[in-house]
Amino acid sequence: MGSLDDAVALIGQARRIAIVAHSSPDQDAIGSLLGLGLALETVGKRVALLCDDPVPRLLRFLPGSDRVHSALPADFTPDLLVSLDSSDTDRLGRVAQPLLEGGIPVLNVDHHVTNVNYGTVNLVEDRASAAEVLLPLLDALAIPLTRDVATCLLAGVVGDTRSFSTANVTADTLTAAVRLVEAGADLAYVTEMALNRCTVNALHVWGLGLSALQLEDGVLWTAIPLESRRRMGLVGVGSNKLSSMLIGAVEANVAAVFEEQPGDQVEISFRARPGYEVASLALSLGGGGHPLAAGCTLEGSLDEVVQRVVGLLKAQVAQPTGEEG
Ligand code: AMP
Ligand code: MN
Ligand code: MN
Repeated sequence: MGSLDDAVALIGQARRIAIVAHSSPDQDAIGSLLGLGLALETVGKRVALLCDDPVPRLLRFLPGSDRVHSALPADFTPDLLVSLDSSDTDRLGRVAQPLLEGGIPVLNVDHHVTNVNYGTVNLVEDRASAAEVLLPLLDALAIPLTRDVATCLLAGVVGDTRSFSTANVTADTLTAAVRLVEAGADLAYVTEMALNRCTVNALHVWGLGLSALQLEDGVLWTAIPLESRRRMGLVGVGSNKLSSMLIGAVEANVAAVFEEQPGDQVEISFRARPGYEVASLALSLGGGGHPLAAGCTLEGSLDEVVQRVVGLLKAQVAQPTGEEG
């Protein structure tokens, strides 16, 4: 039996399903969480929608976003755990850990090359978003797409592909989007709401990052100290894909944004231009991602992490993949 059949069997047997998206959720994590949850409810499953961190403010337009919680409701005893868009169990956060140890089956639905296949069943496919992996699963379960489900899934597709512009977009991605639009999702609305908008605070964080750019040997990077963020009242505001902007610089073969976080942690977002890759480096540092977009969180002071990782990036740039994607 292929993993799609196995996944269908697991969901078919389950009645109360806990669904967890990765911490620090993006559009794909939240869109997949809500899309799958709402879809399963239409066929009578009970679901708990879980994420360690709250739904980002700009994604609260998505139907069902007020139902995401960081703890399992007391009266909910799941008989299946579904994880979404997460290549390892750490990234699922604290809310998932007791469930992972609770003896129930785990269905791991993901699209990262770095996925370590931690599920009882692993529906891990090389697609442009987790939402795109969910669509054949819903088809196989014979669950019709409602407008709300389609809207949530389209937010995942549009977010992870930056509006169909990333190197991993295929004809299948576009076909999936057509189906979601046919089911009632509004592409322009979803793109505006889930991708194009940002807050002024996020722009201030960009300003901090852009004012400290460094370029050496094809590596373009910036580091955002916690102190400068504190001074401007920007603690907790993400850099919102600044790395995607940096890799647009023609001088850069790889780009990185280092964000110092409380507790001696440094979050790193990597990007590569086609012909280079950053997934293996992110994986070796305990993170994960895709060839052209990856990330990790490291412990240590900002200066020492930047120095170490920029050295590794320079070594990476010295070894192009020879591929155009
Ligand atoms: P970002 O730079 O946040 O847009 O993330 C780019 C890609 O790397 C996404 O596919 C993320 O899921 C993945 N990623 C980012 N941070 C981590 C992490 N700490 N662990 C695993 N994967 C990550
Ligand atoms: Mn994600
Ligand atoms: Mn994703």
